Amino acid sequence: MMNKDHTKATPRKRDDRDPVCGKHINRNKAHITVVYEGDEYLLCCPLCQAEFERDPGRYVR
Ligand SMILES: [Zn+2]
Repeated sequence: MMNKDHTKATPRKRDDRDPVCGKHINRNKAHITVVYEGDEYLLCCPLCQAEFERDPGRYVR
């Protein structure tokens, strides 16, 4: 599905990629999106979320 959602403003979008495991993620299917320092990140699962939140600086640049 290529359904683009323009109905709400989103933070600056970097990449449809999970910074923890490196998987590309359909943002409609992401476990969660987190915003860190104005950038939005997609996480695929609770494990990646926990890992990201434990040490976000390790996964952002
Ligand atoms: Zn992941």
